[in-house]
Amino acid sequence: MSTLHRPGVAAGRDAQALHRAAAPDYFGWLEHTRTAGGCARPIRLTGTMTNVDQDTGQVLAEQHTDELPDRVLYKACGNRRAAQCPDCSWVYAGDAFQVVRCGLTGGKAVPASVARHPVVFATFTAPSFGPVHHRHVPRHTCADRRRCDCRPAPCHARRDAATCPHGRPGACFARHDSTDGRLGRPLCLDCYDHDHQVVWNAFAGDLWRRTKQAVERHLAALCRRRGIPTVQVVTDAGKIRRVPPVRVSHGKVAEMQRRGAVHFHVLLRLDGVDPNDRHALVPPPTGITVDDLDTAVHVAARQITFTTPPHPDRPQGWSVAWGEQVDVRRIGTGDGDVTDGKVAGYLAKYATKATEVTGHCSTRLTPDTIDAYADPEGDHLARLIDACWRLGRPTRHRTSDTATPAGERQAKLDTGSHAYPGLRRWAHMLGYGGHFLTKARRYSVTFGLLRDTRASYRRADDGSITVGALAFVGSGWLTDGDALLANTAAAQHRERRRIGREEVAHETWSEVAA
Ligand SMILES: [Zn+2]
Ligand SMILES: [Zn+2]
Ligand SMILES: [Zn+2]
Ligand SMILES: [Zn+2]
Repeated sequence: MSTLHRPGVAAGRDAQALHRAAAPDYFGWLEHTRTAGGCARPIRLTGTMTNVDQDTGQVLAEQHTDELPDRVLYKACGNRRAAQCPDCSWVYAGDAFQVVRCGLTGGKAVPASVARHPVVFATFTAPSFGPVHHRHVPRHTCADRRRCDCRPAPCHARRDAATCPHGRPGACFARHDSTDGRLGRPLCLDCYDHDHQVVWNAFAGDLWRRTKQAVERHLAALCRRRGIPTVQVVTDAGKIRRVPPVRVSHGKVAEMQRRGAVHFHVLLRLDGVDPNDRHALVPPPTGITVDDLDTAVHVAARQITFTTPPHPDRPQGWSVAWGEQVDVRRIGTGDGDVTDGKVAGYLAKYATKATEVTGHCSTRLTPDTIDAYADPEGDHLARLIDACWRLGRPTRHRTSDTATPAGERQAKLDTGSHAYPGLRRWAHMLGYGGHFLTKARRYSVTFGLLRDTRASYRRADDGSITVGALAFVGSGWLTDGDALLANTAAAQHRERRRIGREEVAHETWSEVAA
């Protein structure tokens, strides 16, 4: 139960809010906190801010935060996770939308000609680590998939399914609705391979990198067979090299499935190579089409499989490969289903979620907090987190058979185990340590550029910029009452923007967000 819902706390908060609102400088304070107003846990900064003329460098004004309300500057936390800070994640989603969209249609620093490059939207999923309750709708008739109320097929309809060694049925005839808490949960917790799943999560980024390389290799071989010549370029080091005439740029979003396995939604765009400027974004040669890209993705996804390094608990390692289904769709080829805006909106939405869909939303786990979440006999999540902590433990083995008095100190870290400590660091992400939105350098604009653009909008009016020498003093609002007031004001402001955002087409959504 949140502390905010306890009557005593609520009364305290209301008194704080009244006290703040009755103060003579209340509206000044509200204005002062406005840029961080919606943030759940803003960062408080102290120090001197210097206002400088952008052209001449002349100092126009100087102000210390001591002269400001609360004697601090409030800065929004910028957390992208909706469960951690709804307001900041909303801004992030707008940025993510724009990053993805610019890669598809051009805009900002990306040439508009990218809109004519072949693009596919592929979804790569994890393999099975044991049967889970799931919801499969053979044919959707609903208007909105997010509020799907179509009749699903039975979960695991197997008449002849044997019971497992733990005496549990290997079938489930339920037609789960989309809010059913059993979705994503194993049919038998004891049969399920939690270890394999968290290791797979930990190596999923690696699997993706190898897959993308395989896609590029496949396309390069295709160009050779079709007689499309390689391109001579000059490297940054000044060397002359011949490179394949096509390359693939990608934008990728990781999404956690309910079962706690990560999967990737990836936009893959075919680019060409400009012999005069190898960093330039140019169209691919006409001899390579979207069909070839589509095939290359399927081939690569089937082909790439590897074994992880040895672990004391499993000396032969774990196998890492994609699941059966790799869904590849073309974008904007006229079937009207997948458009740029739809894809960008979809990816932006997932970029603000982490493990929330699994029911887990803690931040990083530590030896002090792990026991509250990990349990080898517990539910699905507790077992996944336990697997991360157990497999990620520091492991040692003897390098020689002769034990010496200093044997413990001489023991070296098992070379294979270097790959696994990340499992502890990322236990709260069920082993996945990668970013939730990544893109190839060439794919689109950067988040930094979008933030700079937003910041310069704010300061453009008088041609001056503010340079701060600011130090962190803390995070969060000073009182629950302050949080209530600032968040309420921001919510009203955001509601106005949100109505605007939903009224315009997806394509211009990000403009409203910025
Ligand atoms: Zn925030
Ligand atoms: Zn079921
Ligand atoms: Zn439906
Ligand atoms: Zn079982």
